[in-house]
Amino acid sequence: MLESLKKMFSGNEGEVPVNTGSKPDISREKSAELYEKAKNYFPGGVNSPVRAFKSVHGTPLFIQKGDGCFVWDADGNQFIDFCGSWGPLILGHNHPKVREKVTEVMQNGMSFGAPTALENELAELIIKNNRFVEKIRFTSSGTEAVMSAIRLARGFTGRDKIIKFDGCYHGHSDSLLVKAGSGLVTFGETSSAGVPKAFAQETIVLPLNDVEALKQAFEQFKDEVAAVIIEGIPANNGLLMQDQAYLEFLQNLCKAHKSLLIFDEVITGFRLGFEGAAAHYGLKPDIVTYGKIIGGGLPVGMYGASAEIMAHISPDGGVYQAGTLSGNPIAMAAGIAQLTELLKSGFYKELNNKATEFAESLQRFATARNYKVKVFHVGSIFWIAFTDKDKIQRADDIEHSSMEKFKMMHRELLNRGIYLGPSGYEVGFVSAAHTKIELEKAKRAIFDSLDVVFRNK
Ligand SMILES: *Cc1c(COP(=O)(O)O)cnc(C)c1O
Repeated sequence: MLESLKKMFSGNEGEVPVNTGSKPDISREKSAELYEKAKNYFPGGVNSPVRAFKSVHGTPLFIQKGDGCFVWDADGNQFIDFCGSWGPLILGHNHPKVREKVTEVMQNGMSFGAPTALENELAELIIKNNRFVEKIRFTSSGTEAVMSAIRLARGFTGRDKIIKFDGCYHGHSDSLLVKAGSGLVTFGETSSAGVPKAFAQETIVLPLNDVEALKQAFEQFKDEVAAVIIEGIPANNGLLMQDQAYLEFLQNLCKAHKSLLIFDEVITGFRLGFEGAAAHYGLKPDIVTYGKIIGGGLPVGMYGASAEIMAHISPDGGVYQAGTLSGNPIAMAAGIAQLTELLKSGFYKELNNKATEFAESLQRFATARNYKVKVFHVGSIFWIAFTDKDKIQRADDIEHSSMEKFKMMHRELLNRGIYLGPSGYEVGFVSAAHTKIELEKAKRAIFDSLDVVFRNK
């Protein structure tokens, strides 16, 4: 073992020698070529905006393949990947169990638009091991799941307004592309062109972790609030850990006002543990949405609630929601294979311990060097923030200017074979496929990159 690795294993990150310089840029010729082509076909050359590398250095990397914790780009560069397709790949890339199940099921055809036994199988895996849902409905994306959950809450309560929080992302449906207006409790303003003002008027946007704002909103919009939607642990705009007491207050307030509490667990579901953030906090949301991990890398979303609430969904009830490819057999197969692995004894304990050790080691290094860096983490989610604040719980706690440092770090990391999502507002994910050796290599690369960032400050 390398001397430097030995030191890291011993927890003496302060003794790591200071890195002496930035690395030359990796070759991106093939990626650049593909990107030029893609720009002819897609706005910005991509099919989802955050892939465009707008806030980091260089052209986007076109990925050719993934295996375990690694991805390879079109130029043959190899990376240890902490993006994991933005969360779904908790077992790593191309997991043999998932691949085998998908390949097996695929032999029988791709889609029928009629029920299959596979839907029952995945549903049973989920419902038997999750206290928060009695009945569920599969969709094809997280956006769809959340959009449907909002409609269900409105249909169930007969009310129109919803409350969301600044710093939470819930997909790109109209009601949720809304940001805070000015003032503590206001109607939202659309955060995208093309969303009617009238829609934004039905969404109230509040700051996170703010009891007063919640109280005021419920006073002002008494008997009008169908639901409050919050990410189980907000992880789309940094990692904004909420206080337990705040979430309990929120739950009680919803109960008192007969508004539904929706936990959007598209990231946190099956990530923090099989039962997500609801179990982490010991809360009981009325409706829960899932996505990402549930599909094992294929497009699956889901929403669920008590049988009583779900009885309002068509064809049982009056809330319409449908999908040509919902419950697609191949996607179900991937979900079944992945969730089966997650249910094995000790899975989360091992993963979360590994990720905690990784994040804590990064923090010890930054602290020993006096770098203005905080590594926030929970379960296998981590977020490297360029700040000296001990807590970041609201969107406006994040300094936009700190993203310049992220940009420098991102470039250094790519040049050292580490792939993070191309935005400083995005969290990273440790998967079960990250072995101790690769995590040590990744640490070393992050240490060196931070040295470069702070020497050039
Ligand atoms: C990713 C995400 C969504 C949207 O899911 P898509 O599958 O991208 O449509 C919604 N909510 C949260 C919390 C997410 O992280």
